[in-house]
Amino acid sequence: MSVLILNYDPSGLYKRNEVLNCLLLAALLKRHSISYKIKEISSISDEVVNDERFVVITSREKKVQELALKIKKRYKTKVLIFFHEYFSFFINKDFLKIVDIVVVGNGFNAIIDLIKDLKRKETGIKSTAWLSNGVVNINSSQNPIDLKKVGKLPYSKYPGCGIYKEAAFKYSPYEEGKDAALIFFSRGCKSRCSFCINPIFYKRKVYYRDPFDVLEDIDFFIEKGIVHFSFEDENLIADRKRFNELYTHIKKKNIMYRCHGAIRDIDNSILKKLFESGCKRLDIGIETASLDLQSKINKINGVKRVIKVCNQVKSFGIRPFILMMLGFPGETREDLLKTKGFLEILEKNGMEFGLSLFRPLPGTCFEKIKGITETGFSSHGKDVLHYIGDETDVDEIKRIYKRFTSKKLIIPNESKSIKVVRNGSSFIRADEYFEADFKPVPLNIWNGDKWDSKGLAHLVGRFKGYIKYRFSSSESFKANIKIRFRACTQTDEKGNLVITINENKKEVYIPEKSESGEILCVEFENITVDIKNELCILCNSEMGLSLFLSFDDSKVDNKSIEISTCDVL
Ligand code: SF4
Repeated sequence: MSVLILNYDPSGLYKRNEVLNCLLLAALLKRHSISYKIKEISSISDEVVNDERFVVITSREKKVQELALKIKKRYKTKVLIFFHEYFSFFINKDFLKIVDIVVVGNGFNAIIDLIKDLKRKETGIKSTAWLSNGVVNINSSQNPIDLKKVGKLPYSKYPGCGIYKEAAFKYSPYEEGKDAALIFFSRGCKSRCSFCINPIFYKRKVYYRDPFDVLEDIDFFIEKGIVHFSFEDENLIADRKRFNELYTHIKKKNIMYRCHGAIRDIDNSILKKLFESGCKRLDIGIETASLDLQSKINKINGVKRVIKVCNQVKSFGIRPFILMMLGFPGETREDLLKTKGFLEILEKNGMEFGLSLFRPLPGTCFEKIKGITETGFSSHGKDVLHYIGDETDVDEIKRIYKRFTSKKLIIPNESKSIKVVRNGSSFIRADEYFEADFKPVPLNIWNGDKWDSKGLAHLVGRFKGYIKYRFSSSESFKANIKIRFRACTQTDEKGNLVITINENKKEVYIPEKSESGEILCVEFENITVDIKNELCILCNSEMGLSLFLSFDDSKVDNKSIEISTCDVL
């Protein structure tokens, strides 16, 4: 009996739970003496050749259905199992025709139950959804793993030990370029914030591991020379007694870590322990500075209290990091201005914060409300405004988002086209695309090597992907077209960019990483310019990390792609 655990499209700042859930499942399989492999794949076209009888897939990408179908077609006898926090979205006939079961919530034990006795599928294993005679069945009884018995996590079996290399960890306290290991003591949260998936997935329960297992995980990384950790617990300090058990031991380990904590749990005694055990950054989710909205989203923290607690955290030598969100359903201009004022206070006091955008998560009360603009999970964590209701002040959100992140807000379905002028030049910003599949990384500011200072970058993408610009002009004409843009890779790896205008294609190398990149130029002959034209910049190399930079070093706002035309004689 063997199992392949597949993590499809594991990338981006918001996809750390997928890695940990794969590791958790792997530890469970090991405990039941079931052999397994873990693979990450980033594209449907990647080969999934395997001998394992069972394939357990996790992903937040809707495209995972295509992947499952591809596997099922190729290996008819394989048993496919799906598990993810977004499980409720995947409980439908179309998906259940392909996979054998979808695990409901955090009932990962269901996977073991099925592997041990396939026949039980039809009788309804706890925490599963399955299709029987064309009817979707759900047994939502809980079937969670006993975390106490899971033991240490098999990091060595995960590609790259599951180490998180995102830019967010590449500055203090993790020190430039240092890797941070993902780790956790507990799963779940007792709060009931209405926008969050956690209460849906864990049913407002918290499950703890044995602290000695966590210590073994820490030792595994220390032996590899990694002493920077990111505790992925929703609230590491929620249970003081349990945190004390962990603290007593990790304070001797001489590690540095980041963790989450709730305002209500922070006091001098816990801060002292956090500091002594190596905590360098404490993330605190506040989301909005409007008390009305705090009440609507079931997350009441106040505002003055937050500032006071932040100062308290700072006084212990720990950096508070406030997590804020824009674009909530029901958020008015007044609410937005309160959040803006609060961010200004944080800024003035040198306190760090992260600003993200509301996402309608499957299973929450916001999943299907009127006004949802974009339901693709792939765009979660990107600069997309997912909800526009009658009360939404889009322009104010745009302004606040730009002001505090330097990034441009993407409004789905906003028609965008680039005016191409006859016998002249048009300049566009790289992020004025009408369509993109480019996996932008969280920060689009770049000065060659540092992510935390303003630089030239307008758009940063990584791995395979494309951005498309649509032409428009007042008349249709034939022209030779020259496209110029400044670009470079983000790494030392090499790759190519393919530039197309409709069926016409040119290829250019991606210049090496540098502060200013290089200006690339491609020329197309005899192109009919009209509204049907599409300029596509495609990065077709796994290693071809690339970004598009401003033409003008001095202005972050400057245009970064030039399209010049010259009439065909
Ligand atoms: S406290 Fe955090 S994890 Fe818990 S429900 Fe609220 S947003 Fe979710």
